Amino acid sequence: MKATQFFISTLKEAPADAEVVSHKLMMRAGMIKRLGAGIYNYMPMGLRVIRKVEAIIREEMNRAGAIELLMPVVQPAELWQETGRFDKMGPELMRVKDRHERDFIIQPTSEEVVTDIARQELRSYKQLPKNFYHIQTKFRDERRPRFGVMRGREFTMKDAYSFDRDEAGAAKSYDAMFAAYKRIFDRFGLEYRAVAADTGAIGGDLSHEFQVIAETGEDAIVYCPTSEYAANIELAEAVSLLAERAAPSEALTQTPTPGKSTCADVAELLGRPLAQTVKSLVLATDELNEAGDVVKSTVWLLLVRGDHDLNEVKAGKVEGLKGGFRFATVAEIEEHFGCKPGYLGPIGLKKPVKIVADRTVANMADFICGANEVDFHLTGVNWGRDLPEPDVVADIRNVVEGNPSPDGQGVLAIQRGIEVGHVFFLGTKYSKAMNATFLDEKGKPALMQMGCYGIGVTRILGAAIEQNHDARGIIWPASIAPFQAVVCPIGMDRSEAVKEAAHKLYEELQAAGVDVLLDDRGERPGAMFADWELIGVPVRVVVSDRGLKEGQLEVQGRRDAEASKVAVADVGAFVK
Ligand code: ATP
Ligand code: MG
Ligand code: MG
Ligand code: MG
Repeated sequence: MKATQFFISTLKEAPADAEVVSHKLMMRAGMIKRLGAGIYNYMPMGLRVIRKVEAIIREEMNRAGAIELLMPVVQPAELWQETGRFDKMGPELMRVKDRHERDFIIQPTSEEVVTDIARQELRSYKQLPKNFYHIQTKFRDERRPRFGVMRGREFTMKDAYSFDRDEAGAAKSYDAMFAAYKRIFDRFGLEYRAVAADTGAIGGDLSHEFQVIAETGEDAIVYCPTSEYAANIELAEAVSLLAERAAPSEALTQTPTPGKSTCADVAELLGRPLAQTVKSLVLATDELNEAGDVVKSTVWLLLVRGDHDLNEVKAGKVEGLKGGFRFATVAEIEEHFGCKPGYLGPIGLKKPVKIVADRTVANMADFICGANEVDFHLTGVNWGRDLPEPDVVADIRNVVEGNPSPDGQGVLAIQRGIEVGHVFFLGTKYSKAMNATFLDEKGKPALMQMGCYGIGVTRILGAAIEQNHDARGIIWPASIAPFQAVVCPIGMDRSEAVKEAAHKLYEELQAAGVDVLLDDRGERPGAMFADWELIGVPVRVVVSDRGLKEGQLEVQGRRDAEASKVAVADVGAFVK
């Protein structure tokens, strides 16, 4: 590629709305251009990176036996009504109507459509297992789109779906995807961690997230540096530890403390035994003064995600509950439940659930966690997303770090991560709702066992930059850089020798399979170098009269402090 035939557009300053470094640098390097909140044009330079990310994903998915297809962005509501997600999913699901007033959605993910394909096409056990995937545009009307491509509303995801005869087969498919994900993230050249995770709105029983380690990550990961233990904070012991330290001990019992907690009232309201209290739980902490009066109430409305049917919560008076998660104020909770919200102590960890916290809550150190069903307990807080961030994480860090790891293999540490991939074992959640069956060996219909596997293609760009940058700009890992190398001729307009050598080198590198760009714009060296450092191309080769006289070119890796002099004939080998 020659620069004059390409499109390069760099900026000195990032726009004011760019908060994190990856967003700033992607804007400055001309990789993306904002069209609306959470909606971006992928400009030619950025698109090259996206295509490389996609190519690696495709290669590894195909190698793992997954089969590519392409499912529509706009999907009829009927399928989403079959699984109930059309009503359940809340405002993140973009609903649209066509000219006949028929309902459609813009896909945030594709379980319904792929299950519809499977129930029609996969009829016999002989056709199983199958794993279908696509790389497709998604739309999620995120409550808080931010950080550029990291949390967009429109973004690109690779999503794969496996179909198996039985759980053992599904476990194999899950493992195969897990292994493929490791290969993919290894090839991206990113530092990442696979962590046990919540199954979220998609549901199911088993799931892992792939988290790219970065301080700006929205997730907090608890891990043990000396063992394999790693979990998203939601699953970690961390919260219990936090509660233990922060709360008066009488609050840490299985039964609410009379006068302080009104979970009993909530249980009564729902007509259930206290031990099975609400899959959605109102939670609060009170700050008491010496006299025992409440001086400050801090309240969370906790909704257990997954299979939870919000309409089931008989607090049907709370209108907003129907649509999905929402935050409540103390006053709202009091009004709707007819009592002050209270709390239960942390009792154990078993089933992954997610807690959503009131963003107005300032002092998370007071947090206490509660039970939902017998032996199923709330296990954490979605800390990162809705809270004043550094302080909260610092709080958790203080409490969690140094405590024994649940596997007994060391002590816990905390780091922040960006969720770039997520693998789920779904079981029969979707096949049951949509009656996706196949005929087994005995000719009897059986439900398909499913798994689903996502990678945030466009989010990878942001995550890679968060991890790889310096004061001058992006430092792309070689495997996903927009170009592997750039040839920068100095004084090409004056020197025939430079011009000729630069073109020759460019052609040789191309012939050797290097994805190389020749910067033939005629820019001055300072401006030219600044552009390529900002854009983050891994290797720069400078062709100048001075170097040519010595038979040498200057080759500099993006992370190198100095250039190396390399004989003209050896540059090809050096760059590769
Ligand atoms: P998050 O917790 O960040 O909201 P999620 O758990 O809702 O993500 P999944 O449903 O697991 O996301 O989707 C699979 C992958 O898609 C995620 O691991 C992430 O990499 C990517 N992704 C999800 N939401 C977005 C978004 N708004 N912008 C860019 N990528 C996204
Ligand atoms: Mg999400
Ligand atoms: Mg998530
Ligand atoms: Mg996820």
